[in-house]
Amino acid sequence: MSGLHAVFRRLEGRFGPQQWWPAETPFEVIIGAILTQNTAWTNVEQAIANLRAADVLTPAALVRRSPEELEQLIRPAGFFRQKAARLHHVATVLVDGYGGDVAALCAGPLDAARARLLALPGIGPETADSILLYAAHRPSFVVDAYTRRIFTRLGLLTGSERYEAIRDRFMAELPADVPLFNEYHALIVTLAKVCCRKRRPDCPACPLATDCRFARENRQKP
Ligand code: SF4
Repeated sequence: MSGLHAVFRRLEGRFGPQQWWPAETPFEVIIGAILTQNTAWTNVEQAIANLRAADVLTPAALVRRSPEELEQLIRPAGFFRQKAARLHHVATVLVDGYGGDVAALCAGPLDAARARLLALPGIGPETADSILLYAAHRPSFVVDAYTRRIFTRLGLLTGSERYEAIRDRFMAELPADVPLFNEYHALIVTLAKVCCRKRRPDCPACPLATDCRFARENRQKP
């Protein structure tokens, strides 16, 4: 196995299509991408269920709610004051500047669209790339802590690279293909949960084990 293509093919062969992102609309992807910051997805699901029950899953509906109402609805996702303010801000930008249309917010040259998202409060690179890829179907590779962990253990990263350097590497080595980027990130998350856990990774069950530096080094230990 060599390179990022080969890793993808092994993961795809083992885990099959992941069919992300779990959301019904592009705006719901944005909500999920913000709510999932620093929390588990199960907490996000509860917060989104509250927003759905309150009929607050469109930009126009969300901007009409007070910060206090939003905070209560998204409370299960944690950091609810910050996140309510971020959601309200992005919904306001969408309504005031883009007719509520996520595709319009993310239109134009990819770097310009990404810079537009990064300029919004509380939207960092991982959130911006998640929005571009999963809400707007733009070919922007998403890097997360799982990506760093797995590819460092494999020996394909040193572990000290900055976010942009890791993203650049994936985007240089892979074709700018939205379904590929979509599946690749989802498969990385699946591998991290099923095998490549932070503590006690299950290397014998991992489809990448034969070419993984971490697995090799740990097999050699007495
Ligand atoms: S072989 Fe082990 S350390 Fe390497 S990627 Fe798989 S689970 Fe992670």
